Amino acid sequence: MNPNSPILGIDLGTTNSLVGVVDSGFPILLADENGSRSTPSAVCIAEDGTITVGAVALRQRALHPTRTITSVKRLIGRRPGEGGWVPPYVLSDLQTTPVEVSAEILKHLKAVAERALEQSVSQAVITVPAYFNDAQRNATKRAGELAGLEVVRILSEPTAAALAYGLDKLGEHQKVAVYDLGGGTFDISVLEMRDGAFQVLSTAGDTQLGGDDLDRMLAGFIAEKLNLSAKDIRVLEAAESVKKRLSVDEAASFDGLDITRAELEKIARPWIECTRLHCLRALSDANLKAEQLDEIILVGGSTRMPLVREYVRELFGREPNTSQNPDEAIALGATIQAGILSGSLRQVLLLDVTPLSLGIETFGGLMNIIIPRNTTIPAKAGEMFTNAVANQDSMLIRILQGERELAKDNWELGRIEVPFPPGPKGSARVGVQFSLDADGILNVLARDTATNQDTTLEISGTAIDVEDERVEQMIAESVDLAFEDMNERIWTEAKLKAEELLPAVDAALAQLGESVEVRACAAEVRRLLDLPEHDARALKAANQQLDDATQSLAVMLIERAMEESLARRGLV
Ligand code: AMP
Repeated sequence: MNPNSPILGIDLGTTNSLVGVVDSGFPILLADENGSRSTPSAVCIAEDGTITVGAVALRQRALHPTRTITSVKRLIGRRPGEGGWVPPYVLSDLQTTPVEVSAEILKHLKAVAERALEQSVSQAVITVPAYFNDAQRNATKRAGELAGLEVVRILSEPTAAALAYGLDKLGEHQKVAVYDLGGGTFDISVLEMRDGAFQVLSTAGDTQLGGDDLDRMLAGFIAEKLNLSAKDIRVLEAAESVKKRLSVDEAASFDGLDITRAELEKIARPWIECTRLHCLRALSDANLKAEQLDEIILVGGSTRMPLVREYVRELFGREPNTSQNPDEAIALGATIQAGILSGSLRQVLLLDVTPLSLGIETFGGLMNIIIPRNTTIPAKAGEMFTNAVANQDSMLIRILQGERELAKDNWELGRIEVPFPPGPKGSARVGVQFSLDADGILNVLARDTATNQDTTLEISGTAIDVEDERVEQMIAESVDLAFEDMNERIWTEAKLKAEELLPAVDAALAQLGESVEVRACAAEVRRLLDLPEHDARALKAANQQLDDATQSLAVMLIERAMEESLARRGLV
């Protein structure tokens, strides 16, 4: 598969169809020129042979009911005469087949995608219900080919939904129920995670149960109150819109008639009850009790209804996961699968982490970690550094990878030289920032904050792609040698401190006169520094004693300075 050519994810639904693609690492659903991401699965074939698809076709239905085809998915994959089935007159009249009609919907979705992406696409992942048999799956595939699409995968709808909900991160043998109540169909599936992939354990449902039925019941209720015909398309449309509003508001009105959510729920109760037996059946076929499920996810526009959510909660005894848009979950999952197949979603799904710490060398050859190991990428972190020596005019930054305390024991990934104006020790301010992108590319930015001058370095791959054995060896060494390493770190830090203290003490003594105690402490520090063996803790303690002993020197220095100042001004 060509990694640069996108693969579409398509939810070819009974009522609505959607198309998506992975763009810059993110799955997105594509909108048509009217900004709509959902296309009604309707096709109208005019007398002159002109074909329209989607909302336009749906509008034609009132004018040309015999030329408009909806819910073709219910017919796909069946042959005339099979199981006593005869194709609906609309298809035979129009001399077309379910595969050809589905192909028109797919062609339309392909065009929506090509317009949005400004490039041609030739491959797709298409979802089908879990219960579709081989003939139905093949028919769907053929429809794709007729539409000019190579169908790289036929994906089960519940699996797609689970992918959209991010459930591919579930552990082995965890189980999910997917409760899918759309416009025209109800599906319940139980999935189990096995070897990192979903297995459909059982599936049940009703291909003639969905939100449309509730619309008709509500239309009957409205028509009766207003003395209208329940078949009137205007009433039917109003019923759907009132129903949707009641998912959010407690009341809605149509033609002066107020309808409350409680009234809708009274009508909807027997309708939603129809899903119970299917759910119990799916659980029993999977040999499971509701308590054994790890997640229950909601799919299909009708699961936006508070009543449906409450019903599922009661039936399964657990709060359903509603974190995704239920009417977009399948398309999103198909898109994620397409992204995995095309290679464009690798990093996002694997959630790569840094196998080893990344840092830079600091004074005395120590490792200073900037991004610790096991950090999820992308990641960004930084620190400020200064010059260790007066009049330095640049700083060499060595970029290191590894877990050892000393720079020399880690691996060098690269180095950059940062120039800055010379000045006293500690006067330079260089900010070093590491940013590791989703592809594992490490960008190092060093900025002299005085001049705002940037020095950058890009290190590809090595920050993430390290052979497992090398990572293991590095970690094992860091653990085995942890004691020695830590001793070296404390030693180095103590040595830096001693090298700072000793000249300052000598200068103070020269100014204030000798102190036996201070001399003795300084001599001890010098002795420890000269020993061939590094006794880190002893040196640290000796530094501390020297520091304490010089406290009185510091006080004397200040007093002396004040006396001199007062004397200069003739005050003593
Ligand atoms: P789908 O097949 O997933 O596109 O779902 C379509 C069905 O969901 C239709 O019956 C819609 O009326 C219904 N639906 C969409 N949004 C809502 C909503 N907010 N409340 C209730 N039903 C809705």
